[in-house]
Amino acid sequence: MKQTDNPADENGRTGERRANRGDTPLTETVREYALTLFDAVGFTTPAAPGHAAFVDAWLEAGYHGEMSYLKTRKRLRGGPLNSQKLLGKARSVIVVAQSYDFGPLTPAERGEYKESDSSLSPRSTGVRGQAGAGGGQGQIARYARGADYHQVMWEKLNTLRDWLAEEFPGTVSRGYTDSGPIRERELAARAGLGWQGKHTNLISLKLGNFFFLGALLTSLKLEPDPPFDKHHCGTCTRCIAACPTGAIVAPMTLDARRCISYLTIELHGSIPEELRPLMGDHIFGCDDCLAACPWNDKAQAASEQKLYGGEGRVDLVALLALLATDEAFEARFAGSPILRTGRTGLRRNVCVALGNVGSPEAIPALETVAQTDPSEMVREHAHWALTRLCVRP
Ligand code: SF4
Ligand code: SF4
Repeated sequence: MKQTDNPADENGRTGERRANRGDTPLTETVREYALTLFDAVGFTTPAAPGHAAFVDAWLEAGYHGEMSYLKTRKRLRGGPLNSQKLLGKARSVIVVAQSYDFGPLTPAERGEYKESDSSLSPRSTGVRGQAGAGGGQGQIARYARGADYHQVMWEKLNTLRDWLAEEFPGTVSRGYTDSGPIRERELAARAGLGWQGKHTNLISLKLGNFFFLGALLTSLKLEPDPPFDKHHCGTCTRCIAACPTGAIVAPMTLDARRCISYLTIELHGSIPEELRPLMGDHIFGCDDCLAACPWNDKAQAASEQKLYGGEGRVDLVALLALLATDEAFEARFAGSPILRTGRTGLRRNVCVALGNVGSPEAIPALETVAQTDPSEMVREHAHWALTRLCVRP
């Protein structure tokens, strides 16, 4: 890299002059600072990611379901990343990863129960879940238990953006995290952070697979890292076997329409009846394929405590009652990514979980929802759950 590629400020100082402290090259200075904010960092060019044909075929197959914004993003992705739509002067992409792996998986996260825990153990029903005390317990995916990751990542990306502008005058940057026409996973692999596992998520040798990705497009010219060109899944198929709904239809190919993360978060309407029994106790997102991956065993623990939110087990009957009003829902989940699904979506999900793992104690609460919820869709899901509970021996 020619350091003179970088812009000069109004005093004629270039990034090189301000950044090259001692013998540290500019790219390593940026990496050093970015690693004070994130758990892993890599650099790549703003060239468009590859695999366009794969994405086209995936969309063509309808695997995206109702997520029509993915088609819009695809249109926006038409050219290289440094289009005017994103950041006209982009010459590098800083790809960052933030772990949310706060320790070993609990037995519930691994889908393991003792027979004494529940009459609805997976061994007896083939479906994960735990009735427990009070009518039943539900599971929230790991990523959604703490603060909204969008906010956490944006704050950090903005901190990095501001630092770059201060250290390298004239630099402009813009951050993305699951928020624009950016395929972070492909960029991350190209920036050397890891490989795309058969469950479709990125796997890092350092972080396992419980982490968020972000990308900062910047006008600063940085030395790209070598791409991660090895695929370490080998003959393993644990994630595919772990998926309760058969959503991973082939290695690295997800039919989102069958995925519990899609069904509990992205889908606004009725959950297809044939999939409901397979959803077990999941009420927001699903970790089953990620939890099955052996590359988590030696992963570095997460460092950002804002993302920590406990074990993610919730009392389903208590939550069903709380979800009577939008106000109560918004107050309970303020600052959480769970707001995304809305009161109606979350109550629908709780009904399905109760239909799968609830005990008779849940029947009165479900009857109230079946009679009084303003949403016909929620009332129908409550009826479905009641039918399941009433016919269960
Ligand atoms: S998130 Fe759950 S439902 Fe979706 S592919 Fe993974 S295991 Fe299957
Ligand atoms: S579980 Fe196995 S196949 Fe799936 S992503 Fe991890 S290593 Fe790859």
